[in-house]
Amino acid sequence: MITCTKCGEQNPDGVYRCNKCGVMLGHQVRARADAQRSKVVSGVRLVWWIVVVIAVIVIAPRLYHFAFASFYRYRMNTQTAAAVKNCNGPATETTTPAQKAEIDKCVDTDPIVVKARGDYEDFTKGDKP
Ligand SMILES: [Zn+2]
Repeated sequence: MITCTKCGEQNPDGVYRCNKCGVMLGHQVRARADAQRSKVVSGVRLVWWIVVVIAVIVIAPRLYHFAFASFYRYRMNTQTAAAVKNCNGPATETTTPAQKAEIDKCVDTDPIVVKARGDYEDFTKGDKP
């Protein structure tokens, strides 16, 4: 309904002139359209914010998990590579199977490597299906 500002008559929506006094209601019709449009805009904005919040809730823990898994994997790989050097590795074409087994055993029992592998596996054990 549009209330005429001159005579107070209640006019139905979409009417451009007051049914009682005939005054132009254009500016009131426009104001109503503006109010309706801003209602739609704020509705769209609300939906947008809900989408953003859900995206953050869903993505943030994955991002956090991915970052830490990457860190643990990187640390495990660099410490394994360091341990291989400390254990007279890496194996080459001239390394005998017995020497290779010794290098592997030396690396696998390195406490730093054991801890790095354990940390990585503990952190990512939930990832495997
Ligand atoms: Zn009127």
